[in-house]
Amino acid sequence: MKPAARLSCSAAMLALGCVQSQANPVQASRDTAEARAEQALSQMTLEEKIQLLHGTMPLFIPVPKRAPGMPVGAGVIAGIERLGIPPQYATDASLGVSNIMDMRKGDVATALPSGLSLASTWNPALVREGGRMIGSEAVAKGFNVMLAGGVNLVRDPRAGRNFEYLGEDPLLGGVLAGAQIEGVQANGIIATIKHFALNNQEIGRSSASVEMDEAAMRESDLLAFQIGMERGNPGSVMCSYNKVGGTYACENRFLLTDVLRRDWGFKGYVMSDWGAVHSAEALLAGLDQQSGEMLDRKRWFSTELKPKLADGSIPIPAVDTAAKRILWAIYAKGVDKTVIAPRAIDYARNGEVALQAAREGTVLLRNEGGILPLAASVRSIVVIGGKADLGVPSGGGSSQVVPVGGFRAVEKIESGPAATFARRAWGGTPPLEALRRTFGKAQVTFVDGSDAKVAADAAQAADVAVVFATKFATEAEDQPDLALDGRQDALIDAVASANPRTVVVLETGNPVTMPWLAKVPAVLAAWYPGQRGGDAIAEILAGKTNPSGRLPVTFPVSVDQLPNSVLPGSDLPPPSKEDKATYGLQTNSPPFTITYPEGADAGYRWFDRKGEKPLFAFGHGLSYTTFRYSALRAKGGRTVSVSFTVTNSGAREGPDVPQVYVTLPGKARRLIGWDKPVLKPGECRTVTITADPRLLASFDVARQRWVVKPGRVKIEVARSAGDPVLATQVSLAAQTIKP
Ligand code: BGC
Repeated sequence: MKPAARLSCSAAMLALGCVQSQANPVQASRDTAEARAEQALSQMTLEEKIQLLHGTMPLFIPVPKRAPGMPVGAGVIAGIERLGIPPQYATDASLGVSNIMDMRKGDVATALPSGLSLASTWNPALVREGGRMIGSEAVAKGFNVMLAGGVNLVRDPRAGRNFEYLGEDPLLGGVLAGAQIEGVQANGIIATIKHFALNNQEIGRSSASVEMDEAAMRESDLLAFQIGMERGNPGSVMCSYNKVGGTYACENRFLLTDVLRRDWGFKGYVMSDWGAVHSAEALLAGLDQQSGEMLDRKRWFSTELKPKLADGSIPIPAVDTAAKRILWAIYAKGVDKTVIAPRAIDYARNGEVALQAAREGTVLLRNEGGILPLAASVRSIVVIGGKADLGVPSGGGSSQVVPVGGFRAVEKIESGPAATFARRAWGGTPPLEALRRTFGKAQVTFVDGSDAKVAADAAQAADVAVVFATKFATEAEDQPDLALDGRQDALIDAVASANPRTVVVLETGNPVTMPWLAKVPAVLAAWYPGQRGGDAIAEILAGKTNPSGRLPVTFPVSVDQLPNSVLPGSDLPPPSKEDKATYGLQTNSPPFTITYPEGADAGYRWFDRKGEKPLFAFGHGLSYTTFRYSALRAKGGRTVSVSFTVTNSGAREGPDVPQVYVTLPGKARRLIGWDKPVLKPGECRTVTITADPRLLASFDVARQRWVVKPGRVKIEVARSAGDPVLATQVSLAAQTIKP
């Protein structure tokens, strides 16, 4: 057996649930951080402590009043100079240093691919490197808090912010969020896991209440956060806009105190989402910092708090507790030592990280008759639609990064909740340019796709047609359906009818439906592929990169397969003036209740439970080579250890992502691990995966423990959640695990 490649080795370690080697130093510095926080606190006046508890948006501070060097980003918390406590300068978000509404005129940053693309890599080492890269740019632009670490589960493929997140599975999402956070914080800054919790759609994000039983939450969304926090150790957690069980997430004692602190031992601070605070008493429930306070109805953690402290209705020690958590994060993450003065950024080098992420995050969904990779001898290619001559699209809202080179096309959003701050934009390497460079000998032409007849004629005259199909997604809005925007389905149909050698490249923020699929031999899901996405797509079409992305979400055949065929709240009228007054600036619907019939079984687990066959399963993704799985061995007991052999049985080198699932009696299939070995033709490797026992357990609410029931369970080695290859059974031993 050949030694494991570096990439696969680290992926294997994460799949195994290895403890990070720096556990001891972290523990040591945490203790120091605790002592330092206490010492700083003892020297602070009440006024200074309160100062740490609330923040504003630099955009709202008149220029002459801004502290010298204050970067304009999402938020600012004043520092306390006399004690060497640095100001907290916060920037969004998980895909790079964002610059919405061009708040830093003309500033650009390296744009990573979207979260769903990062999750499609199934590669924690690469996601960690992406985090390190974007964190280094944050520091170079003067920020020391990064609002990066979005891990809300995809429960509905119409939800507007899914593109920012890491898919539908708590293990995959949690492992990758942890890796990203670790990477960001390696720069001596704070990362922020968000949005805690159950903020899985945009409609009603400030007025809706999610009703879910505790066991279901613990086994799904909360587990994603728990795993992400254990691995990434973020300095802060951002609580979400919505209510959970009738109480706002940002004043939800169950979430912020019982779960986060009592059960998970979180020592950092909870910051609010911008405009998500509704009372000063939120402090008592576990919220430590009111961010972007001018977006709330009142300055709850400053103006409103002070009289309550004076009359004793909020005890002063509550301020100490919150301030100490903020200080702890500052010291534990080394923020006080990090020099955040502006400095040059090596965009060329950072662009390589974005390129590698796009390569591994692009999923080859279909490749009938081996049409891809395109032969080097191809004489003519027509590129159609998607503004492929200008760049690749990005998602809208607070996470939107203006890529290096700037946007080449921007469309204003005319109406709706996103109109005030989001825009639709294209930038990065234009796929057309990359294809021309890559297929130097071919004639590569472009038609914009606005006229299906023109496109079909051009397709007929070319050897191959490549259609770029887009769908816009943005913060603050969900999507009414799963169809591509506008008339693109008809366009693809017409093109594929004119030329059977048609390839569709999807650039979307979510799964989409594909009524034309039977006519189209090859489909790539490139998501929003970031600033080097055009290069990655061209490399894959040419076979210079062997695709290795795997879906982190299920593509349904139609909305009828979803747990809620109508997106909750989408059939309600717009919010009234009273609703807006009650629920705040971020209100985009009247109040309503969101129930998730799938409970803990988000995504592929719902499909398994219902026996439904999706269009493309979670975990699916093709390669230009083939892999064989054999020699499965599995051991039960207090956990499950699985080993098997992966062999590259094809003719090209490439990475594979073998996945291991468990099925407990009466439960839906669940991912318990994966690996990403890179194999040469004929090469084989033994992959070993050990399950986190919580994935073998149910959460027992009465006992407040994870409970593993003794008995036989099914173990499968699979290419996707819908394509098991090897199966066996093992016996589990009874055990309980702390929450
Ligand atoms: C978003 C957060 C973001 C914050 C600051 C909010 O609208 O929900 O994800 O970090 O704004 O920009």
